[in-house]
Amino acid sequence: MIWSLAKIIIFIVGVAALALGAGWLLESEGGVRIIVAGMEITLGPLQSVIALIVMVLVIWLGLKLLGLLIACWKFLNGDDTALSRYFARNKAAKGFDALAEGMMALASGEGRVALAKAEKADRYLNRPELTNLLTAQAAELAGDRKKAEETYRKLVENDATRFVGVRGIMKQKLSEGDTETALKLAEKAFLLKPKHIETQDLLLKLQAGKKDWAGARQTLSAKLKYGSLPRDLHKRRDAVLALSEAKQILADDQTIEAREAAISANRQSPDLIPAAVMAAHGYIDQGQKKYATRVLKKAWEAQPHPDLAAAFAAIEPDETPAARLKRFAQLTRSHPTDPESRMLMSELNIAAEDFPEARRALGDLLETDPTIRSATLMAAIERGQGASDAVVQGWLTRALSAPRGPQWVCGNCQNIHAEWTPVCDNCGAFDTLSWKRPPSTELAMPGGTEMLPLLGAQAPTPVAVLDEPQADSDVIEAEDLGNPVKKGA
Ligand SMILES: [Zn+2]
Repeated sequence: MIWSLAKIIIFIVGVAALALGAGWLLESEGGVRIIVAGMEITLGPLQSVIALIVMVLVIWLGLKLLGLLIACWKFLNGDDTALSRYFARNKAAKGFDALAEGMMALASGEGRVALAKAEKADRYLNRPELTNLLTAQAAELAGDRKKAEETYRKLVENDATRFVGVRGIMKQKLSEGDTETALKLAEKAFLLKPKHIETQDLLLKLQAGKKDWAGARQTLSAKLKYGSLPRDLHKRRDAVLALSEAKQILADDQTIEAREAAISANRQSPDLIPAAVMAAHGYIDQGQKKYATRVLKKAWEAQPHPDLAAAFAAIEPDETPAARLKRFAQLTRSHPTDPESRMLMSELNIAAEDFPEARRALGDLLETDPTIRSATLMAAIERGQGASDAVVQGWLTRALSAPRGPQWVCGNCQNIHAEWTPVCDNCGAFDTLSWKRPPSTELAMPGGTEMLPLLGAQAPTPVAVLDEPQADSDVIEAEDLGNPVKKGA
């Protein structure tokens, strides 16, 4: 503000001074008299001022010309830098102009134009780290992969641009599907710039994809160290990775390490269901049933889940249904009205053939939150109580059109997984699976489900699965649709 005001004041004062000076010169008498070789020239006051200005200009031009002449003279004498130095400033300006135009073309998506400008800039400027960057980007945009890779390789040779080069080649390998090479390049890029968040994430994804859990845990620690990951998220993801590491070791039959790793994973994150299940199985194998019970009870407190119930059943695989019912009471003591607890108690009562109690355990679940599982349980209860086939089939029909209930759903692509995995099978995202209701609840059936009640109401012959009315066959039916207790036993 003050500066622009000062500029305006200086301008006005300058104009006023010029006007005053010109007026004074016009009014004043006398002038300059020059005598050259007997010739006498008399200049008026204004004329003499103009002559002075012209003289200064001529001297300036003469000096410039002299500079060029000296440069030419030196050039002719073998000093080729003299002339080039004289023109260098001009050349650099042209080069930067071309560079700017190239960047403009790049931003407007004209790959070919950008490539041409990059070549021009390269000719005028001796700055390969700048021009190669533009060339690589332009080639990438124009779809000239070979040229792009060639330029990235040039960038790798320079210390200042090595990271950009490695990252460029890595992206190319990734788009070609060569994850093996991409992983190696990502490791190199990570060494060059450990704080680069995109590289961290990419390396983590590639390591998880290659099941390099130990490496992924290291990358995760780096993410925590450089502050690009909140501490609680790091804890959770590290538990996920520790668990995956454990799973792999378990597959190789190295059970002691697996147990230790799984238990450490569980300690870090008691709310992580798969970790709790792994830890419980570790304790069961060690014969420490008390610890297994404690771990599962703690996890159930955090979130009731069928996998926890299955692991809890595995603690005593050979107990009677009545004993099991009694033992499970300590698990469902927390969250007794949770749908998961209710369905679990109902299943256990069906197994113990106490059908009225199984019905009571379900409560108003069928009205408030009907799912495939609860409707199937209802069919089993009705069968156990000796209801007609029509009634049983009515419940099974309801099960067909009921929502699926919570599942392991990928938050990224909404794909449903039968069991928890650290990496989504469908989209390859890391740690995106969560236990929730899938977005689409309606079962996709050609023609919809409106004809199903007809089938249930007046089917003359029983449906195949219910052909032999045994108490067991109902439970097996329920198991197929997600009953965890029999599965775990
Ligand atoms: Zn996914």
